[in-house]
Amino acid sequence: MRWTGPFEVVNATGRAPLVIACDHASNAVPPEIGNLGVSDADMQRHIAWDIGAAAISRHLAKAFDAPAILCGTSRLVIDCNRQLRDPTLIPMTSDGTTIPANEGLSPEQRAQRISAYFDTYHQACRQILDARCAEGRRPLFLAVHSMTDRMRGKFRPWEIALSSNENRRATDPALAALRRTESIVVGDNEPYDMNVDEDYSTPEHALSRGLDYLQVEFRQDVVATPEGQRRFAELFIPAVTAAIAACHCS
Ligand SMILES: [Zn+2]
Repeated sequence: MRWTGPFEVVNATGRAPLVIACDHASNAVPPEIGNLGVSDADMQRHIAWDIGAAAISRHLAKAFDAPAILCGTSRLVIDCNRQLRDPTLIPMTSDGTTIPANEGLSPEQRAQRISAYFDTYHQACRQILDARCAEGRRPLFLAVHSMTDRMRGKFRPWEIALSSNENRRATDPALAALRRTESIVVGDNEPYDMNVDEDYSTPEHALSRGLDYLQVEFRQDVVATPEGQRRFAELFIPAVTAAIAACHCS
């Protein structure tokens, strides 16, 4: 994927009580970074981006008339869902692959990556959310991710998984809606919970504003094709609708 900028805003003026963020939408590497020293095959794997997540975000943005902010930079350059102090912010290795270009970065190079890609993307998220909050609205914050179907040799059965902390005002009604579709396997804080010490986007954009949130992982093998992306976006619509209603999002 060619790098076209640190972020893309889809449907910026969408009026739904919903703001979508996709931290790992792209596997693109900015030209000024050059080559990470990672093979093309590895750049297509989940370590570089969340396969299918950008397309699902676009489907949901359209279905709800909501804005979606898609990060433009690969998580191997900088992971936009990691706290700045996290050692995996600019990863040296990921799922068995080393990232040679991330070794031995100077403090200036690290600061440059944070400011050019991480801060710029999150500033775009803030702008969209601030504008709605300034109107007295309380949108649902939806963080869209996808996950590998296999980690350390173990298969993950969950096709859609919600990650939460103790604030489950949006998560519980969304899970109830998902479980009404018997054909899908739903994860509740499996394989990941939402960890405020590690995750960045939901704590920063939702919890700090007191906004309700959903953080979702789609299993990448079921959302790798356009058909799968459309199908799972549609399966997820009732969950978002239930969360918006239960939380009185506006
Ligand atoms: Zn992700």
